[in-house]
Amino acid sequence: MTGVVEVENVWFVYDTNLALKDVSLNIEEGQYLGLIGPNGSGKTTLLRLMLGLLQPDRGSVRLFGEPSTDFRQRERIGYVSQRSTDRDTAMPMTVEEVVEMGRYAHRGRRRLQACDHRIIDEALERVGIADISEQRIDRLSGGQRQRAFIARALASEADLLVLDEPTVGVDASSRDNFYGLLSRLNKDGMTILLVEHDIDVITTHVDTVACINRELYYHGDSVSFLESDALTDAYGTHHGIIHHDHP
Ligand code: ADP
Repeated sequence: MTGVVEVENVWFVYDTNLALKDVSLNIEEGQYLGLIGPNGSGKTTLLRLMLGLLQPDRGSVRLFGEPSTDFRQRERIGYVSQRSTDRDTAMPMTVEEVVEMGRYAHRGRRRLQACDHRIIDEALERVGIADISEQRIDRLSGGQRQRAFIARALASEADLLVLDEPTVGVDASSRDNFYGLLSRLNKDGMTILLVEHDIDVITTHVDTVACINRELYYHGDSVSFLESDALTDAYGTHHGIIHHDHP
């Protein structure tokens, strides 16, 4: 398998605050990796290092085989942030216009052509929002909006989907449908990195778990994760871990 992201012995310090200590972690093509850890454990820092937005103090990070800070093919990464912090939702754009943005890197200076529209329509269909493509993005529910951002990533023909706690503020049934969609995309070959604080989501939906708290406490399959000591080691106690009671 090809390494999509390769993090090797990475250390990162903010001023005097050691955020990451000797973290090594790979994401292989086709993998669905869930990154979990308490607040302040370095998840965002690791994500920013992986995306080339920060440079490690020690160690190396490669993205599609290149040093992540040199990586320029940004359209290969589809990024979906928390709903509350996504500046795109403040713009009065339709769903279709948001998804069209996914073609910008491909079309260059030319107008959208029939092949672009076919890709856009397919992306809307795949995430199940073709029927609301004319609606304004800021008037959608949280779950629908996140689907639109995934469709934008599909339209840009991204090879890696990165989601940072994507269902904050999304109701429970839409959340289950949303993770169902991610699982289907992964089965169809999409590599997914999901940063998530909800332990049930991590153990139910992803195939591989990475648990960090400044250092890596666990990296392996999601089934063995719950049986390991990683949770208590990384969290100290089980406090702060979110569980949902399913009916
Ligand atoms: P998480 O995403 O898991 O909540 P972060 O990566 O945001 O964790 O933070 C890891 C540690 O680094 C925390 O102690 C946090 O306070 C610190 N930190 C994060 N960003 C900065 C920054 N810009 N300057 C200084 N310290 C920071």
